[in-house]
Amino acid sequence: MKTLPDFDMVLFGGTGDLAMRKLLPALYQQVKAGTLSAGSRILAAARKQLSREAFLELAEATCRPFLGESYDPDTWRSFADRIHYFPMDVQSGASYGALGERLGQHPDRVRVFYYSTSPDFFAAISAHLGATGLITADSRVVVEKPLGHDLESSREINDAVGRHFAERQIFRIDHYLGKEPVQNLLALRFGNVLFEPLWRREWVQDVQITVAEQLGVEGRGDFYERTGALRDMLQNHLLQLLCIVAMEPPTSSDPDAVRDEKLKVLRSLKPFTPQDVVTKTVRGQYKAGAVGSRPVAGYAQEPGVAADSRTETFVAVKAEIDTWRWAGVPFFLRTGKRMSDKLAEIVINFRQVPHPIFGGADHTSRANRLIIRMQPDESMRLYLMAKQPGDAMTLHPVNLNLDFEESFRERRLEAYERLLLDAIRGKLTLFVRRDEQEAAWHWVEPILDSWAASEDRPKLYTAGSWGPAGSSALLSRDGLAWNEED
Ligand code: NAD
Repeated sequence: MKTLPDFDMVLFGGTGDLAMRKLLPALYQQVKAGTLSAGSRILAAARKQLSREAFLELAEATCRPFLGESYDPDTWRSFADRIHYFPMDVQSGASYGALGERLGQHPDRVRVFYYSTSPDFFAAISAHLGATGLITADSRVVVEKPLGHDLESSREINDAVGRHFAERQIFRIDHYLGKEPVQNLLALRFGNVLFEPLWRREWVQDVQITVAEQLGVEGRGDFYERTGALRDMLQNHLLQLLCIVAMEPPTSSDPDAVRDEKLKVLRSLKPFTPQDVVTKTVRGQYKAGAVGSRPVAGYAQEPGVAADSRTETFVAVKAEIDTWRWAGVPFFLRTGKRMSDKLAEIVINFRQVPHPIFGGADHTSRANRLIIRMQPDESMRLYLMAKQPGDAMTLHPVNLNLDFEESFRERRLEAYERLLLDAIRGKLTLFVRRDEQEAAWHWVEPILDSWAASEDRPKLYTAGSWGPAGSSALLSRDGLAWNEED
């Protein structure tokens, strides 16, 4: 990859979990790949009073486990040369002048302001950057989720940031869009002629999108109590994946051409009536159980969680898209914590053959399916029926496996690496536009409202399972089953 021109990145929240676990390691990898020029600067800004040396020591010790075998002391030293530390209270305007002096040495460079802090600060940071004149024409801002907890609060944050940054400067990150298999799904759909004719209601029976975690709330009970699975995962990541599966072919890879198509999908999602919320959504909360062979506590016993909490740690919904292409095809989305496996995948189930000509029990039980897996491994498998060797004409599913590691020897970029590079380059295609984000909130709000108004509680499921029984029932009502049950 080509070395990028010198840039400055201000990483607000530079001592935080996200910065240490994802952002700094991603930037390190790009130093190693030769993409980040020696003159570029990464200015970590956070509340802690630390010297540059102390910050670098902390960063090296904290990031190292996330770098694995790619860590080497020489590359780290070269990376560290680009890093500076700036202690400040982002809410107070007092430090922005000094920040400006640090940046002012290079006013013509691309400036990336990365907001890796609580969204409560986004308005203040934007206002102070604006008031201090630090937002140049070549500046961009990267904002992390959660952008609000409903449509109104997301509008407030967007307004506050939008007062100082133009929409073309705002990079709303959804790291699922940066994942290699998601990119490959785009390549598969729009770089081949084979799939597009089949990619419609006539040939697709149902689509399943699963993001399952084995982790619990990991000490973030306070945060999770205010969020829940629908806001934390479904409103953003799962709906973005749905858009990638369902969108019409864009006219080009131009950011707005792609985002216009995603927006059309979001606007075509069939709205939920209160009755639909009862029949087409399932919410669950984990109780004590075992993940792997390790016993784990229930959600209500986690620190920071109310004993009578009504927060959902699991959600499954049946989404429908009111378009000619997708009418009648259910899109099942589910996500949960403390699930049986760590798994993120998209399953496209194609229809059965119209008329079976081979005998035997096996031949009709399975249809063709395409599985795009993001976790735990990254792969794409197309399941086809083939004849089992032997005397009888017995069909058996086999898969064409697009094994990324086998086919391509190059190191694959982590989602955050790709997205950070795109933000530096100013490439918006993989970032969420304001209208998309608001359309997603608009669609999930009736679910949130109905749940809030209902006396019902989330159904308990045992930690280490696939969620409450209602999740299977959601599909079985259509004569279908989740991929792992089929
Ligand atoms: P964190 O609590 O670990 O870190 C917060 C950072 O903000 C710290 O560096 C802290 O010093 C800084 N900060 C807090 N108050 C400040 C102030 N007044 N002035 C200056 N700095 C201040 O949080 P995190 O987990 O790194 O998350 C950061 C953001 O990213 C949040 O919006 C979070 O929701 C989002 N996010 C995090 C993850 C993740 O994996 N951690 C994933 C997706 C999104």
